[in-house]
Amino acid sequence: MIDFQYYNKRLGLQLPSPIQQVKMPLLENKGIQLFIKREDLIHPEISGNKWRKLKYNLLEAKRQAQKTLLTFGGAYSNHIAATAAAGYHFGFNTVGIIRGERTHPLNPTLSLATSYGMKLIYLDRSSYRNTNRRELATQLYPQAHYFIPEGGTNTFALKGCQEIVEESMNQMQTPDYYALACGTGGTIAGIIQALNGKSKVIGFSALKSDFLIQEVKQLINYQQYDNWSINTAFHFGGYAKTTPQLIQFINEFYNEHYIPLEPIYTAKALFGLLQLVEKKEIKKGTNILFIHTGGLQGIAGFNESAKMGRQIKIIGDFH
Ligand SMILES: *Cc1c(COP(=O)(O)O)cnc(C)c1O
Repeated sequence: MIDFQYYNKRLGLQLPSPIQQVKMPLLENKGIQLFIKREDLIHPEISGNKWRKLKYNLLEAKRQAQKTLLTFGGAYSNHIAATAAAGYHFGFNTVGIIRGERTHPLNPTLSLATSYGMKLIYLDRSSYRNTNRRELATQLYPQAHYFIPEGGTNTFALKGCQEIVEESMNQMQTPDYYALACGTGGTIAGIIQALNGKSKVIGFSALKSDFLIQEVKQLINYQQYDNWSINTAFHFGGYAKTTPQLIQFINEFYNEHYIPLEPIYTAKALFGLLQLVEKKEIKKGTNILFIHTGGLQGIAGFNESAKMGRQIKIIGDFH
């Protein structure tokens, strides 16, 4: 129904996403090997876990013969950018319900989304909090559509995220740990399911609340795995909050390893992971696979606000 092999070629999707080892004195001192699965390289716009989460949703939308994808997101959302780009390439119309007011000009994320033909509907923050999103979607867009939740997380998304693990098993010896950033918990839930009790999984929450643990339990249908945990100590003030220390970490990491990180998810998670290594909370001799979940499209918007004097800029080729 969708010939993914054909589309992978046509879009130049870099799959399987490559794995590279990162060497640092800290890791050498502690006798730990760190590998990074570069999901950020899959595609510049449909990147990382957002591709994984969309894949089987695209298939399901085609199966249902839907022509329009509808979803929700913030104004800088990686999921909005990915849905707009994927919709365009796979032949769907797209509608994005965006939290907050329209800005003039549009920020880089939303201007990318509209360039792919996404119809944007703005919703004030208090209405946006309404939890019955399906109902809200039907009110705002009564025409037929395939509904994808904010962040892309549903059972189809979990199936796509399981492939991160399956792919990695063909690329390297099973690592002792999988480590990654978490928002809605969809990606980690898919990884936990695919591992079926093997290895260990550490998620780093990008949000302040610890509601996430409950979410993940629900997403994995309360299966009793005890090989995963979510660390909530590295949110840096909460969702989408940053500190100069975090931006400095991004820039230093890029200078030394030429691997870009973004400030909302991946930098917080990798920073947290290295702190755990530093504090000897991870055993000597351990192999860790860090999943770079992508999201680099958000840096242009971040740097734009940095230009207005709020924060230091993230270096690299992000326009
Ligand atoms: C959306 C996103 C996440 C969070 O993924 P969840 O499945 O919602 O936990 C992590 N990293 C990046 C770069 C993202 O864009």
